[in-house]
Amino acid sequence: MSQLHDLTVAELAAKLRAKDVSAVEVARHFLARGASHRSLGAYLAVDEQVTLAQARAADARIAAGESAPLLGVPVAHKDIFVTRDFASTAGSKMLEGYRSPFDATVVQRLAGAGAVTLGKLNCDEFAMGSSNENSAYHVARNPWDPARIPGGSSGGSAVAVAARLAPAATGTDTGGSIRQPASFCGITGIKPTYGRASRYGMIAFASSLDQAGPMARTAEDCALLLSAMCAPDPDRDSTSLEIAPEDFTRSLNDSLEGLRVGVPREFFGAGLAADVRAAIDAALQELRQQGAQLVEISLPRTELSIPVYYIIAPAEASSNLSRYDGVKFGHRARQYGDLIDMYQKSRAEGFGDEVKRRIMVGTYVLSHGYYDAYYLQAQKIRRMIADDFQQAFRQCDVIAGPVAPTVAWKLGEKADDPVANYLADIFTLPGSLAGLPGLSVPCGFGEAGMPVGLQLLGNYFGEAKLLNVAHRLQRVTDFHQRIPVAVDAAPEARA
Ligand code: GLN
Repeated sequence: MSQLHDLTVAELAAKLRAKDVSAVEVARHFLARGASHRSLGAYLAVDEQVTLAQARAADARIAAGESAPLLGVPVAHKDIFVTRDFASTAGSKMLEGYRSPFDATVVQRLAGAGAVTLGKLNCDEFAMGSSNENSAYHVARNPWDPARIPGGSSGGSAVAVAARLAPAATGTDTGGSIRQPASFCGITGIKPTYGRASRYGMIAFASSLDQAGPMARTAEDCALLLSAMCAPDPDRDSTSLEIAPEDFTRSLNDSLEGLRVGVPREFFGAGLAADVRAAIDAALQELRQQGAQLVEISLPRTELSIPVYYIIAPAEASSNLSRYDGVKFGHRARQYGDLIDMYQKSRAEGFGDEVKRRIMVGTYVLSHGYYDAYYLQAQKIRRMIADDFQQAFRQCDVIAGPVAPTVAWKLGEKADDPVANYLADIFTLPGSLAGLPGLSVPCGFGEAGMPVGLQLLGNYFGEAKLLNVAHRLQRVTDFHQRIPVAVDAAPEARA
């Protein structure tokens, strides 16, 4: 029999329903596995008592004959979702030890579907980053090569799933933070259409971009989780869409015959590493084998998405982060003079460098005299980028290309070069700015045996189609089933 941690969410849920294993046994297994793989740095908070209490409650629901889809399945949450039972830090010293009086809607919805919380996962501070190196707590390591970054900002989520410390995790994607770490760690992750999942209780970074989504090993598992996560939440999130919950598993097996797959010319330029390109090309050929038709398309403003995003996201961040003033919650400096001095010292001590950098950029582009030149201009180009996609979707049903220009880089390699990090976001930012759904599915391995993800972008509300394409790819490939060698060779695991 395969070990519990090798099972997918779908397989685990079936075993739990059949009472082949109890939720408590499953929870204990994953807690032990998390503890023996601490050096990967996936978790920021665990609490065995809380997890086991939730597992016992799930067992009681199973015994009572309930049939919620995720009953007893353990899930871990990116530490950007607030939770009552675990501290919520957003990877920042500013919120060290912070306890929320409520659970984020996404957390609540997954709990309603029966999920058991394993703990809170490492991430870049306030979700700002592409490598998880901006976490104020500790590094997270890529299970395929612990000397490399797992990607970010949902790095802990990708590590936990890839190393089988959790069957699935939540992440958030503002400019690529679900797709990019999923790609770098060889797992599947989907960011739904902006507005599909409630942002209530998601610690805000850039509100017009932030979206929650699931990360798991398979597209099928992502579909199961996403179905539970998405629902209107109009009273608590004003940008939540009034769209009825959907069963995203319904069309997983649909044929790809006649599907028009748009391949954006701009995603295959000189910046794309040859190893990544080879894996993407192979995936595109596989889609063609299955009856899809490849159509060359153009997303002419792809390059502009970097300056546009790095104006809009910091602008919104500077406004969102003004709430951390040391008064109601969060870090407060021990020693200060007057009120202004208290604000200044608390913020200087509580925020890390990247967060400060973005607050400064954001404040600058919103300031009188620069607003028109930067912020307003960026908003106009954002609209044009969204229009480019609508133009493209006249010629194709989904868009396919790389998630990132390279495989995961070495820890420290770009740590002192923020712009190098920003440039690596080039293929995920356009879809984010347009608010489109996007997915990363494992499609091969590149340099040094590191995973490569294929990015699929759909038109608004096209999640089911993306999951269908990814699932069809996973039916004939085994990239998502391979186990990172380093994981069980880690020193503590051998002990
Ligand atoms: N890497 C991008 C940034 O640093 C995206 C982060 C995200 O999606 N949360 O802002």
